[in-house]
Amino acid sequence: MKEKFKKVQFEVECIGMSNDGKGICYHENIPGFVDGLLLNEKALVETTYRTKQVFYAKIIKLINKSDKRVNPICPVSSSCGGCQLLHLDYQEQLKFKQNRVKECLKKIGDIEIDVNEVIGMDIPYFYRNKIQMPLKLVKGQICSGFYKEKSHDIVPIEICYIENKDADHILLTIKKLMKKYRILPYDEDKRTGVIRHILIRNSLMNQNNMVVIVSNVDSFPGRNDFIKELTKLEPSISTIVQNTNKRDTNVILGEKEKILFGKGYIEDKLCNVLFKISAKSFFQVNPVQTEKLYKLAIEKANISKNDTVLDAYCGIGTIGLIASTKAKQVIGVEIEKSAVIDALNNAKNNNIKNALFYCDDAGEFILKQYQEGKIFDIVIMDPPRKGSDEKFLSILLKTKPKKIIYISCDPATLARDLKILKKTYQINSVTPVDMFPNTIHVETVVCLSKQK
Ligand code: SAH
Repeated sequence: MKEKFKKVQFEVECIGMSNDGKGICYHENIPGFVDGLLLNEKALVETTYRTKQVFYAKIIKLINKSDKRVNPICPVSSSCGGCQLLHLDYQEQLKFKQNRVKECLKKIGDIEIDVNEVIGMDIPYFYRNKIQMPLKLVKGQICSGFYKEKSHDIVPIEICYIENKDADHILLTIKKLMKKYRILPYDEDKRTGVIRHILIRNSLMNQNNMVVIVSNVDSFPGRNDFIKELTKLEPSISTIVQNTNKRDTNVILGEKEKILFGKGYIEDKLCNVLFKISAKSFFQVNPVQTEKLYKLAIEKANISKNDTVLDAYCGIGTIGLIASTKAKQVIGVEIEKSAVIDALNNAKNNNIKNALFYCDDAGEFILKQYQEGKIFDIVIMDPPRKGSDEKFLSILLKTKPKKIIYISCDPATLARDLKILKKTYQINSVTPVDMFPNTIHVETVVCLSKQK
């Protein structure tokens, strides 16, 4: 339960930045977090929430500005909340992330180590190859945007500066044509209208796009004319899929799919391996940085033709397939069945014969392999945000692969897991890669080798 509090205004000075990019301040000896305030800045702020132990506040007026502050190029950056660092100079964002990884390793993992500079992007905008936006009728206008934090209110967005430019354009055309053909967005409360979300995926290689129309019905009036005109007006659309989701749920995609135009998938290449991407496939969202991440991970793994490599938490097999040309064999393990099917198909389509993929929990799988006497020379692991688990890590410590490459999307769980691995492994290098510029997220590649 939130305690009752009175909104008050006061001046603060920022003494540091929290992991989620807020400015850390003190007021009457109580610590607080201010959205968008940078180190050393002074501001008049107003509380948005307060307890006896902590306060949260927003800036009312900046009293003294940091020279690291830049004008955010996006007009809705403060209400959208998706790009928490857009007001910070990009080179400073990279330093913030480097420091964040270093601090996490020290505080959580008890690891004192130099963290390499973050590998950044030349142009840190318009990088996402996938967008998914809800549609909503706001004052009679069809709007698309992001949900405000912890709500289903939409912040209307015309141009998103981290999304693909094609996608913004296609969305505008979709909204125009929906109006023309009287196709309404779905209203969760009134249960009227038909279109819930629009998902657009872009292929960097082919410069074409897949549109997924998520609707709450299997068919709707005007659909055929709408599709015909949409593909005419937006020639970069190579395929359109309708996904039906009739459930009352926060999950965007439903089970049922129908191809309305084209092949039902797009293709993209990463490090010269071709991947088929359908509506539901997992594919890294920043293709330019993904290539840098994978190249770094594979280079650090130093794979030779005698090595059997485990690609743990492999998704659609991207890392393993790219590494396969260097290895004797690659084995991938992934818990999502559809991703494993994609991985197997990707191996086949690329004529890669030395890669196998299994659907299992990574810990269970490595345990079974160990019991059967199979061990791996090199392990590349890329777990989700919650990190790996004791089962997986304890078998690693028993079987002692000569190298472990840990790719992490959360420095806190990375630090927790490294604390376990460092008993037997030496940490050779820690290199963050900026997969999500302007946001607080940071990806890190850690290279570990068996202690002699
Ligand atoms: N390496 C891939 C995917 C990384 S995302 C890539 O770069 O594209 C992490 C993956 O771990 C997801 O595909 C998720 O489905 C999978 N996963 C989550 N928990 C798992 C578990 N316990 N065992 C195996 N895979 C798991």
